[in-house]
Amino acid sequence: MDDHSNVLADCVLYVSKGVISAIGKGGEAPPADFEHAPLLDTGGTIYPGLIELHNHLSYNVLRLWAVPQLYANRDTWAGTPAYRSLISGPMGVLGRTPSLVPALVRFVECKCLLGGVTTSQGIALYSDAGIRHFYRGIVRNVEQTDDPKLPNALARIPDVAAGSSDAFWKEVEKAHSFLLHLSEGTNPSARKHFTDLNLAGVDPATAHKLVGIHCVALEASDLELFASKGCSMVWSPLSNLLLYGQTAHIAELKAAKVTIGIGSDWSPSGSKNLLGELKVAQLYSKNASGGPIFSDEEIIALATRNAAAILGWEQEIGSLETGKRADLIVIQGSNKDPYATLLEANERSIELVVIEGVPRAGLSKHLSKFTGAGEEVAVGGEKRLVNLAQETENPDVSKLTLAQATSMLEDALQNLPDLAKAPTPVAALAPGAKSVHPTWKLALDEIEDTHFVLRLPLAGEDVASARGPVEAAAPPVLTPLQLDPLTVADDPDFLGSIAKEPNLPPYLAPGLTELYS
Ligand SMILES: [Zn+2]
Repeated sequence: MDDHSNVLADCVLYVSKGVISAIGKGGEAPPADFEHAPLLDTGGTIYPGLIELHNHLSYNVLRLWAVPQLYANRDTWAGTPAYRSLISGPMGVLGRTPSLVPALVRFVECKCLLGGVTTSQGIALYSDAGIRHFYRGIVRNVEQTDDPKLPNALARIPDVAAGSSDAFWKEVEKAHSFLLHLSEGTNPSARKHFTDLNLAGVDPATAHKLVGIHCVALEASDLELFASKGCSMVWSPLSNLLLYGQTAHIAELKAAKVTIGIGSDWSPSGSKNLLGELKVAQLYSKNASGGPIFSDEEIIALATRNAAAILGWEQEIGSLETGKRADLIVIQGSNKDPYATLLEANERSIELVVIEGVPRAGLSKHLSKFTGAGEEVAVGGEKRLVNLAQETENPDVSKLTLAQATSMLEDALQNLPDLAKAPTPVAALAPGAKSVHPTWKLALDEIEDTHFVLRLPLAGEDVASARGPVEAAAPPVLTPLQLDPLTVADDPDFLGSIAKEPNLPPYLAPGLTELYS
């Protein structure tokens, strides 16, 4: 699992201060500094931690949406009554209820951890004083690392309006890498969001920083241009297939040597975690006309080496090598092909998740060796521990156990109609006014009219056009909902729901059922 795809049959990783300080062979004497270090014999297979390049994490409390029809682009579902009732309406209520925000943050972060995700996109918050910031939690956040060796990526969800491309590229120029929701859909208006960027005239030194999320509507000539400028992309196959019945032209993108990463998008139309999304990627690849697009090794690179390279973080994470951060996961078993072992794993197979040298989730026999304490959680009926201690943690979040957060969210979703009737707890302050104790709410990328421009307003851009679709005047019809289970192993309905989705290719549900068994 190093940068040259070497797989070591019997090895020991020596970790100190969050970094892999040496890699030795089993049975050999340890390096001098490690003579008294605790040794954890996993008997499993060690992989780099999974890196997710696209997720709307806040929405991951919601269950998979039974998609009612085939859509042509994201504008065609965002304002529909079904969507507002099941997705944007509930999230609007949760997001503006400050007491629930810490619970939501706790829950969705644990969902990442239990799926082997060590890096994801952040959770954006805004305060009554109009301040926006990213929640900095346990899982590494690509948008806010506070680490000069891991420069932040910028992200933007709204489309770039025609006429704003110059201002957009000025923002990209200043960034280290720039993740943009791009051409999500299949019709000409989805494609137009790509042509509106006027990529042809952009200096490759700037253009190569662009990371297109989705890119479903790009045609052959667009792909050629995209590749020639050195742009890279993030693939979310389940979400694309579920909503649009199609995904990006992945075989062509690969052939054009575009670097491809992966993201689950969100639980309402995607996988619960990257472990699941990698299975969808493998099934799509295997069933492509003309034979498999990717080897199993290449599938896993989407969430490890490629993802690190897209962020410009390849010197620090994405593979297991001396000098790199100790972001790693351990999967049970070491007899089979190592790539198949990961692709056939479910969340119960994850023995250990380590972020920057700190064990965060896994078997209690492993975690107790290092941290002593942790919160017990059941994964598919088996006992695991999560270690949520964090020096820099938000005090409102650190007060909550995962169990408390889960029960608060279950209650809130059950009582959604009543919660929606409650007045907004804190009135917004006048612009410029200062709040001594700011109340944080969720900044919901797509849906909530927060009166703040969503992610990176461009110079001269109209505030309204930078927002997602604004809620219509009539309130959505809300009914009690159930919290999405933390893992597929804990969700008796997930695979059955996938089987009923009308837009998915026929191989997907049986393929997933097999890979999860
Ligand atoms: Zn998205």
